[in-house]
Amino acid sequence: MAELAQAEISGVARTDAAPRRITILGSTGSIGCNTIDLILRNPGTYAVEALTGNTRVDLLVEQALEIQPRIAVIADEAQYPALKAALAGSGIEAAAGREALKEAADRPVDWVMAGIVGAAGLEPTLRAIRQGAIIALANKECLVCAGALVLSEVAASGATLLPVDSEHNAIFQVFDFERAEAVDRLILTASGGPFRDRSLDEMAGMTPAEAVAHPNWDMGAKISVDSATMMNKGLEMIEAFHLFPVTIDQVEVLVHPQSVVHSLVAYIDGSVLAQLGSPDMRTPIAYTLGWPDRIAAPAAKLDLAALGRLDFHAPDEVRFPALRLARAALKHGGGTATVLNAANEVAVHGFLDGRIGFLDIAGAVESTLEALPDGALGSLDDVLALDGEARRIAEGIVARLRD
Ligand code: NAD
Ligand code: MG
Repeated sequence: MAELAQAEISGVARTDAAPRRITILGSTGSIGCNTIDLILRNPGTYAVEALTGNTRVDLLVEQALEIQPRIAVIADEAQYPALKAALAGSGIEAAAGREALKEAADRPVDWVMAGIVGAAGLEPTLRAIRQGAIIALANKECLVCAGALVLSEVAASGATLLPVDSEHNAIFQVFDFERAEAVDRLILTASGGPFRDRSLDEMAGMTPAEAVAHPNWDMGAKISVDSATMMNKGLEMIEAFHLFPVTIDQVEVLVHPQSVVHSLVAYIDGSVLAQLGSPDMRTPIAYTLGWPDRIAAPAAKLDLAALGRLDFHAPDEVRFPALRLARAALKHGGGTATVLNAANEVAVHGFLDGRIGFLDIAGAVESTLEALPDGALGSLDDVLALDGEARRIAEGIVARLRD
């Protein structure tokens, strides 16, 4: 993986002043909207090939009319007539369905935001990787469910993977890829989510609305719930393991409620390097949009004097068992992380739909892992089959929990 990261750094340099051609997969989401915000602040710098969304056709239309991509794709085919009608006469092509989404990802561009949430983003992201673009990777579930496959496709195509997740983007900025052996450990910071100081009894009664009300970040519903269970940090441990040349035991988690220190790299001489900033995803997205240069981003300037203090403490794996489950899945290897990810997606949806309680999320993931501890994981078909089987088992567990 050291070779991969070095290739990323030396691989692509922008030499021409022509607009960079880009595609945004998941433009209607939180990461997608932040990406569009940055594009609109830099007129003439980017030419948009494709925008994609799942169900929010009105927002996709609004974005398309403003940003003028060549094509706008809505994954939900039922929304196609509305998209087509709204874009009629605009010169923007309208398309719908899974195949259209994958074909949009195939279109050659310089830069792709992989901003779809969940394993649903795996195939489009792989398609974008295969065309050798710079991939700004927000869709961490891709790496969790198919890390080895994603990395082998990156190596084969010469694509460049740039982490958008704030922790991994921070580590990417301070990791000395030339001297990876001098790295002692990675320290991923975690806000601890909205239930950081809640007892297990209190957590048991928490509602979806309370779980998605993140104290520091404004994010999509799924990742917000993942932050509340701390499964997000578990997924991020797995993501870090795939992105950086470290062993599992070199990845640590540190709770830091203010979300200002985005992560740290400790070196063998005792030096610890960190990247800091206001909690605003436009900073890491801008880093990947401008890379290897830096571009301006509108995040509030960090005022440490006004903040006064930064707090840190160890995570509590009793109240947040998802951390333990994710670490165990990573250690087990094979298809275990694929099962963990699929079960978590099913359980989070079950919670958001009001079918199960908050603490049932980790419980359902653990029960799914007991029923399906591993599976073959070579090709994309293997990943999709294991992901599907884990979802079926997890749906059964969620249904039984409800009864
Ligand atoms: P979101 O729910 O706000 O947006 C998700 C996007 O994916 C939307 O455009 C939606 O239309 C699309 N999508 C969802 N299901 C789809 C499907 N089946 N087919 C096609 N498209 C589909 O999510 P988000 O918060 O923007 O997160 C996106 C990804 O970025 C996630 O993997 C998340 O973990 C990661 N991430 C997000 C943040 C953040 O601040 N929001 C930070 C770090 C990492
Ligand atoms: Mg993160």
